[in-house]
Amino acid sequence: PKEYTEKHDWRRYGAHGTSHKYLSEMGMKYLEGVKEPKIISCHIGSGASISAIKNGKCVATSMGLTPLAGIMMGTRTGDLDPSVMNYLCKCTGKSCEEMYQIFNKESGFLGVSGVSNDSRDVIAAANEGNKDAELALRLFNRRVADFIGQYFVRLGGADLIIFSAGIGENSWEFRENICKTIAPALGIEINYELNKTIRGKEALISTPNSKIKVAIIPTDEEVMIARDTFAFYKK
Ligand code: AMP
Repeated sequence: PKEYTEKHDWRRYGAHGTSHKYLSEMGMKYLEGVKEPKIISCHIGSGASISAIKNGKCVATSMGLTPLAGIMMGTRTGDLDPSVMNYLCKCTGKSCEEMYQIFNKESGFLGVSGVSNDSRDVIAAANEGNKDAELALRLFNRRVADFIGQYFVRLGGADLIIFSAGIGENSWEFRENICKTIAPALGIEINYELNKTIRGKEALISTPNSKIKVAIIPTDEEVMIARDTFAFYKK
């Protein structure tokens, strides 16, 4: 109801804006001559969010009032049917606050795998045949791919997909799986051999045939904060 919006001023604030802004500015070098550039930036680390950016302006982002929303993360659920809160409180006798803490701190990779919030441990466990760890990886992959699809539609296409943050910059396995999942619908093609060699550095991993460019760009929130502060000071 509108009353709640007005009285309590709740809204979709999003998060990781500093990172997405940096990434979209850095990504422009791959889009010379493109009119109205459309970028989907994936900041995937312990906290994870995806943004749709048109002409340098963010038009949609996966986090919400708090960073709990959107894709699954190290310990956060990401999006859930809101009824889950009510249902689980009734089933377990836990309070809404206790359940909220579980959604934030005991869910995501940690909750689903039962192994760790660190994606490296989850990959290692899955490689040893741990089914819950495998499920956590599949679920994460599914969520990221679904958001990329959603934002492709939101933007009316896409010119560049960016991978960044701990997982996006370092994990060739996640990048490969996500790209394989979205490739049939979006016509992207990456150089899988090159992808395997990239860790923590910038690279364009799509092939010239790809319908959308795909780049790895290490984020730098500190530089963006400095630039924003300088621009604000100059005003
Ligand atoms: P961040 O919050 O951006 O520092 O990202 C932390 C996440 O990045 C953790 O889940 C780490 O497991 C993951 N990460 C860091 N390095 C790697 C790597 N080499 N391979 C896979 N995941 C990594």
